[in-house]
This record gives sequence, C-alpha cells and structure tokens, in this order.
Amino acid sequence: MTQYAIPAWDLPSVPVAGTSQRFPVRHIYCVGRNYAEHAKEMGGDATKEPPFFFTKPADAIVPVVSPAVGRIPYPMATKNYHHELELVVAIGTSGAKVAPERAQALIYGYAVGLDMTRRDLQSDMREKKRPWDIGKSFANAAPIAPIHPATATGPLTHGAITLDVNGQRRQSGDLSDMVWDVPNILAFLSQLYRLEPGDLIFTGTPAGVGAVVPGDRLEGHIAGLTPLAIEIVAATD
Ligand code: MN
Repeated sequence: MTQYAIPAWDLPSVPVAGTSQRFPVRHIYCVGRNYAEHAKEMGGDATKEPPFFFTKPADAIVPVVSPAVGRIPYPMATKNYHHELELVVAIGTSGAKVAPERAQALIYGYAVGLDMTRRDLQSDMREKKRPWDIGKSFANAAPIAPIHPATATGPLTHGAITLDVNGQRRQSGDLSDMVWDVPNILAFLSQLYRLEPGDLIFTGTPAGVGAVVPGDRLEGHIAGLTPLAIEIVAATD
C-alpha cells in the first residue's frame, strides 16, 4: 500500500442515481457563455465564437442527494457570490480529437450542477486580463446532484433547465438553447485535452445569474434528472 507522508484524503466522487455506486471525479471543465441570453447579460455575443473553457479543482464538488439540502458556506474573499445552474456531463470513456458524431460514446451520464462564482473577483481579473481562477476555483464551488447514467436517460438534447431562489424563478431556459450542444462541446474540448473517465463538464448557464447571501435556498431542476437543492450558510472562515 502507498505510504503517504501526510494523511491522504478521499477521492472526490458523486453518487450514481438509483445505485450504491459513486462516480470518481478526475477533472472539472466548464464552458463559458454557452446560452445566447446569458452571453448578452455578461456583455458579449456567444453566437459568433467557438466555446471557451476554464476549470475547477475536483475537490470543489459538493455532492447533494435529494431530499437533502446541501449546506454551502458563503465563500471567502467575495461580496458578489453568484449562482449558475448547469447541465453536467460525466465522461466514462477516454477520447481525444473526437468528432461531434462520435462524442456521445464518451458520455457516462448527466447531472444537475451549480457553477458557483465569485463574480467580483472574476470581473476584476477579466478587466486586468488575468486568469479567472480566483473567481471560479475555490472550496465548495461545484455543488452537484446524483449522476444519471446515459444508458437510462438517452442523449440529453432538450428539456427545461430552471433555478429558483427562495421560491422565485431566477434562471430559466431549455437545453436546446445552448450555443454549442454537448457533442460539439466535447469535440472542441477534446482538441485541447484528452477527455478521461471521471471528467465532469459543466456546459454553461442560461440567463438570470445573480447574487445569493446566507439564508438563501436554491433549487435547480433539469427535466429528467434528480434536482439539486442547497442553502447558503454563514461563512466558516
Ligand atoms: Mn458557468
């Protein structure tokens, strides 16, 4: 057995819906501005450009199994903490430079996830032409519901995607509104990285992103998947 110099931690993992199995997480990739209305609210026009990507660390995931409500501490270093509800694609089979029509074969399953964002830090870094990392990569930045195997759901190409905060609808769209659909996202991303089993891909958020504060209760739904519920709690640091 490997002798670690300091105590090792558990591999980050997400429950698989309807089983006792867990999906181990390797990398987390995220797509920016993949719904036209959200691209507009962020001050751009996504329809003319190829998708772009950023990452989060694997241990940013917070698995939440309905009916439980995930308790997410308000993060350090921000005064503008935003929700972005997204379809998450889980990769089960390795592949590089994959054509869109071959991409479905790489997909293990799908889940509802939140790309939580320290928007003030992201905007600051963007203005200074510096990397976004501090706005996107931090503790608890990727709450996620159980993964549904694609063998059960089939390819997810359309269906409602919504987020309510304290019972009020904040984000609303349809998976078919994506600027780049999932097969094309995988095709572009796999030109940059070999996709590996355990990779998660957050596929972008519809319009309506906004700030949350401690006490807020968020509920994300995507048609056909287990919903995701979290509550923002007071900072622990
Ligand atoms: Mn996002």
